[in-house]
Amino acid sequence: MDETERLLEVIRGRNARTVGLQFPVGLRTKAVELAQEIEAKAGVTCLVSADPSFGACDVADMPVDLIVHLGHAPMPHLRYNRVFFYDLPGPPLTDLAFVDAAEPMLPKRVGLLTTTQFRGWLPQIKEHLEKAGYEVAVGEPDKRVAYAGQLLGCDYHTAEVVTKDVNGYLYIGTGEFHPIGVAFLTDKPIVIADPERGSARTLADLKDRILRQRFAAIARAKDAKVFGIIVSRKIGQVRMEMARDLKALAEKHGLQANIFLMDLVSPDFLEGYHVDAWVNTACPRIAIEDVLQYKKPLLTPPEFEIVLGERKWEDYAFDEIRA
Ligand code: SF4
Repeated sequence: MDETERLLEVIRGRNARTVGLQFPVGLRTKAVELAQEIEAKAGVTCLVSADPSFGACDVADMPVDLIVHLGHAPMPHLRYNRVFFYDLPGPPLTDLAFVDAAEPMLPKRVGLLTTTQFRGWLPQIKEHLEKAGYEVAVGEPDKRVAYAGQLLGCDYHTAEVVTKDVNGYLYIGTGEFHPIGVAFLTDKPIVIADPERGSARTLADLKDRILRQRFAAIARAKDAKVFGIIVSRKIGQVRMEMARDLKALAEKHGLQANIFLMDLVSPDFLEGYHVDAWVNTACPRIAIEDVLQYKKPLLTPPEFEIVLGERKWEDYAFDEIRA
């Protein structure tokens, strides 16, 4: 049964009259066609959410009988309400040339990593590498990741659990966003086998560039007297307890801190407040990816600990959300 048929069955089973559709940016091109198809086949009204959708951490409530979320695997520890995860497995793996291109850069014992999009390829790639003499480990999933070897931008559990068994990692995917977090977890080499480019590369200088930017943000925040601690309203990003702890920690150091609750963390929404620096407990990647957009320092929680002297710069850690 294909995924649309499975969805139609769920719509019928729930007797849904209205269906909400949530697409990440990269899948917006499919929105109109899918809404049309579902309306025609199920006799329902579809509402396409035009808000951004960043991950399975970000399933917004909608005034509908059923929410259909595309492009992300559900986070096992979350209790979603009326949500159908529309599974979009990647295309079949027909050409392994991009994996072959990675081989000269790989150690003999290697951990295999990817995103949900290419997860279906891992068994075939594992077998291919094993035939070539490599020992391949694929980390089992945990509370926030659904599939073996799957990385999130905020959760590197599947890399961490195999670290003692491997001397390096092979990431199957197209960008640096996911594997860069692994580079902060370990000094072991990380090779990216990119199926879109059909080639392989190492994660060379990116870590150093990020560290320089983070060092600058931390240095700028050292003079701050008033901190704003951001807490997300998104289902898989909310860390209220941590925000309270950070507020208490700031106050212990004689600094002022207030908690700010928001859905979309964006520079425009932080304008105007009498705050010297921000600490973001929402998606850990906002401070890293959007660093140039924020006028005031935007720190991750481990970076805030460095500012307060509770953690040493040498112990810098990438922020992860662990359930
Ligand atoms: S919190 Fe950020 S990195 Fe983690 S899944 Fe959500 S959008 Fe991705």
